[in-house]
Amino acid sequence: MDFALSEEQTAIFDMAYGFGQEHIAPYARDWEAQGSIPKELWREIGALGLGGIYVSEDNGGSGLTRLDATLIFEALSMACPSVASFLSIHNMCARMIDAYGSDDLRARYLPKALTMETVLSYCLTEPGAGSDAAALKTRAEKTGEGYSLTGTKAFISGGGYSDAYVVMARSGGEGPRGVSAIVVEDGMPGLSFGGLEDKMGWRSQPTRQVQFDAVAVPAANLLGEEGKGFNYAMAGLDGGRLNISACSLGAAQAALDATLAYMAEREAFGQSIDRFQALQFRLADMEIELQAARTFLRQAAWKLDRGAPDATKFCAMAKKFVTEAGSRVADQCLQLHGGYGYLADYGIEKIVRDLRVHQILEGTNEIMRLIVARSLVAR
Ligand SMILES: Cc1cc2nc3c(=O)[nH]c(=O)nc-3n(C[C@H](O)[C@H](O)[C@H](O)COP(=O)(O)OP(=O)(O)OC[C@H]3O[C@@H](n4cnc5c(N)ncnc54)[C@H](O)[C@@H]3O)c2cc1C
Repeated sequence: MDFALSEEQTAIFDMAYGFGQEHIAPYARDWEAQGSIPKELWREIGALGLGGIYVSEDNGGSGLTRLDATLIFEALSMACPSVASFLSIHNMCARMIDAYGSDDLRARYLPKALTMETVLSYCLTEPGAGSDAAALKTRAEKTGEGYSLTGTKAFISGGGYSDAYVVMARSGGEGPRGVSAIVVEDGMPGLSFGGLEDKMGWRSQPTRQVQFDAVAVPAANLLGEEGKGFNYAMAGLDGGRLNISACSLGAAQAALDATLAYMAEREAFGQSIDRFQALQFRLADMEIELQAARTFLRQAAWKLDRGAPDATKFCAMAKKFVTEAGSRVADQCLQLHGGYGYLADYGIEKIVRDLRVHQILEGTNEIMRLIVARSLVAR
């Protein structure tokens, strides 16, 4: 058992960290105010090979492991978790096309997705189907040429902003086996978007409903086999959960680092506040929580990389543990800044707001417990 990162992994982390500090951190608040991330940033990220982090090298991707990916998302989130998590969603979609797409579909969508000339969104949730995603109702009716899509997807990160959407829609009967995954391009007639959602965090990412009104999609845009879309969507989520956890970890670590620096400077009762033992113990508790979260996350990623039979359970456990630890740490960091923690200039309140949603999406943390509990009861 070796817990050390390899030289290559350390270099990957350093590259992502350096990029984030130079090209993301200084602008993250402006992008939040604008409610959008400049598309130029994605081209720069694509040039680093981060548009297809675990897309196979045979198909032009970087071919990195899930563990490598957690390092990238941890490092980028130290600059801005909203930007980093958006990249995770794009990567989830790119990997689905890589893993399940026909040669034709890959040839049409992957090259530009890898350079991030095109940005991809993942459309599973509907207004009436969130945790119970297999109850989705968006229809994909067969036509002579392909499919006609009708329905509404809710909460779509990148809705009205992305260039293509991986859409889970019902081409068959009830339940997960009736779901297919279909790639829908921006601009297809009948595709429209709801208004911009006004959110607590992740404010630099546009979130909108994505609406389909008899959108005609060619049969060649079916991802993999008909009726397997739900499996593909769930397989994508194991890695997505690791990435989101890494985003919580990186941002919470950045909050702790900033808090240590702040406490060394800030004085009360004639000494810097990091001299109070009660507060030192809170710092120690946060350090312990983040190190435990990091180790657990990397173990789950290692299991996913090896295709371990319990990888899904470990991804779920890590997602619940790490996202909750990240939010607890960020909240404590805000408290230790006193009133300044509540001010946007100090950067902590944004982290608290951005991390909260990580307990809700990619499967809520209740659903993570459901996955774990089912595996225990089945045994
Ligand atoms: C900012 C943001 C961005 C998002 N981006 C995307 C995206 O890009 N693509 C996408 O497809 N979706 C996206 N989502 C949707 C997200 O995945 C869902 O919100 C999430 O899965 C929960 O679904 P819901 O909101 O319908 O809640 P519900 O499923 O209605 O759940 C409500 C509550 O009930 C609990 N609950 C439900 N079922 C059970 C159960 N069986 N046992 C115990 N508790 C249960 C839940 O945990 C939750 O606390 C996004 C959401 C947000 C907020």
